[in-house]
Amino acid sequence: MRSLLIKNATSFLLGNPGTFSARYAAPQPSWLASRGGGGSGTTTAGARLATCSAGAMAASGQDGSSTKPVIRGVVFDMDGTLTVPVIDFALMRKKAGVTQGDILDVINSWPEAERTRAFAAIQEIEDQALRDMKLMPGLQELCELLDSAGLPRGLITRNVKSSIEYFHDNHFNTLARFEPAISRECAFPYKPSPAALLHICSQWGVAPGECVMVGDSAKDDVVSGNRAGALTVLLDTDGRYAPGGGQEPSGEAVPTHTVASMAELAALLRERYTLLPPTGDVAARQAAVGAGTGA
Ligand SMILES: [Mg+2]
Repeated sequence: MRSLLIKNATSFLLGNPGTFSARYAAPQPSWLASRGGGGSGTTTAGARLATCSAGAMAASGQDGSSTKPVIRGVVFDMDGTLTVPVIDFALMRKKAGVTQGDILDVINSWPEAERTRAFAAIQEIEDQALRDMKLMPGLQELCELLDSAGLPRGLITRNVKSSIEYFHDNHFNTLARFEPAISRECAFPYKPSPAALLHICSQWGVAPGECVMVGDSAKDDVVSGNRAGALTVLLDTDGRYAPGGGQEPSGEAVPTHTVASMAELAALLRERYTLLPPTGDVAARQAAVGAGTGA
């Protein structure tokens, strides 16, 4: 597997080797090894993801025409994923007065006056983040790859709708917008609930096993994707999830793949998967997934 990855990375880089992160092309630590796309895992989540992957392969046909799993849609987190991380979440928790638990859940359990004060504190930090917002390097090229293959792009954030609009208007105005784009005002439970992701899959007519959830949070983005039965990609731009750092994902927070950049993600999708537009025939493909895996 490792040699295959290196070979694929090398072929992808012909003519432009300097843009590719050494974390993908160099020998990989076990935590960075990909488990999806034909791989297998040893944990419960890994076993389930391997089933998803097998399902995607069944949907792509096993007649020799393709051995790569099919992907028909990609959903992204926004802050720290589509944009460079600028939100100081520790400061946000401090200003909101939430020391433990999910910050949004805790605040929503408070009386109205306290809730209003806490959300105002959060809004202040999010407003500053808007002023500091920068597009994640490589995002434009990744989106061009997805658009050229006809794959829909969606967005799920725990941020507010106005931040999504700011992002689209000021930083992502040369390509089609992310659609659907689901904020915390929408009537879905927040990530790590899989509800919003399952809704998007349904809207697109894509089986969850043929959808990818991409995000920089293992506990929110990866867990929501795994719970939905999607493939999951953890974007770890600063190596904070590496072994020994105290944040190595475990259980249902273990992603199918970990990448260090959008360029790595583009290479991964191009080399390891078959990118196809939705057909809308999700029920038939889900039946094929069940027939192929015994699920
Ligand atoms: Mg994020």
